Amino acid sequence: MATLDIRGLHVTVDTEQGTKEILRGVDLTVRAGETHAIMGPNGSGKSTLAYSIAGHPKYTVTGGTVTLDGEDVLAMTVDERARAGLFLAMQYPVEVPGVSVANFLRTAKTAIDGEAPKPAHLDQGRARCHGAACAWTRPSPSATSTRASAAARRSATRSSRWSLLKPKVAVLDETDSGLDVDALKIVSEGVNRVREGGEVGVLLITHYTRILRYISPDFVHVFVDGRIAEQGGPEPGHPARGRGLRPVPADRRDAG
Ligand code: ADP
Ligand code: MG
Ligand code: MG
Repeated sequence: MATLDIRGLHVTVDTEQGTKEILRGVDLTVRAGETHAIMGPNGSGKSTLAYSIAGHPKYTVTGGTVTLDGEDVLAMTVDERARAGLFLAMQYPVEVPGVSVANFLRTAKTAIDGEAPKPAHLDQGRARCHGAACAWTRPSPSATSTRASAAARRSATRSSRWSLLKPKVAVLDETDSGLDVDALKIVSEGVNRVREGGEVGVLLITHYTRILRYISPDFVHVFVDGRIAEQGGPEPGHPARGRGLRPVPADRRDAG
């Protein structure tokens, strides 16, 4: 059973004003088949957590541990993290092209039920990856249709990459931002298919509660000032309720 375990994680970033501590003791465990949503105000450190798991060189781990099935993730290169089973879709671009988030979802769905979702909506966004780190980028609306067909042609060759990577844990940083409702539904369907397989843990980082209409996380963590301030399930009536989880207060939802 795959487990990503984060214990007491402290991370600094070098800024023009000097070294700044961003993560101040994060504890989080994501097991295969579980979906964890991370929400919280802008600047609270959500992306920093994702970059730290990815091994981005700008983020320095000054304390704590990150392990995947007991293996020390922090000692791995970016490529080793991908081979170990970490898939990270990042909010902002990194430099080297590779597989796409769209393909991650499409191939996962195909692998599980033999039916590929239509690519048109997913290809509103493109992703660039290096090793375990992928960046989700969006073309201008006018460029969408031409790029979509090119992306569909490329997806066949990329699907082999997915089977080689065999993700155990997928970290999706604001994959939902900027998607229209149809695209959001397709992305959500892909994530839900991955979950149903029971073999992949999902860490879903989002500013918006709207994706939680389509994905019911098993756990919700609210990030405030570099720490998990609260944990629970979403609003009453939500499928994730009734598991002894505490609700997230209304004033902490939809934090931008
Ligand atoms: P969130 O994803 O929750 O909006 P981030 O992790 O992007 O938060 O940012 C947390 C804090 O760290 C912010 O104050 C941000 O300015 C700072 N920070 C993050 N990455 C960098 C970076 N590469 N350079 C300078 N400051 C950064
Ligand atoms: Mg932000
Ligand atoms: Mg962010």
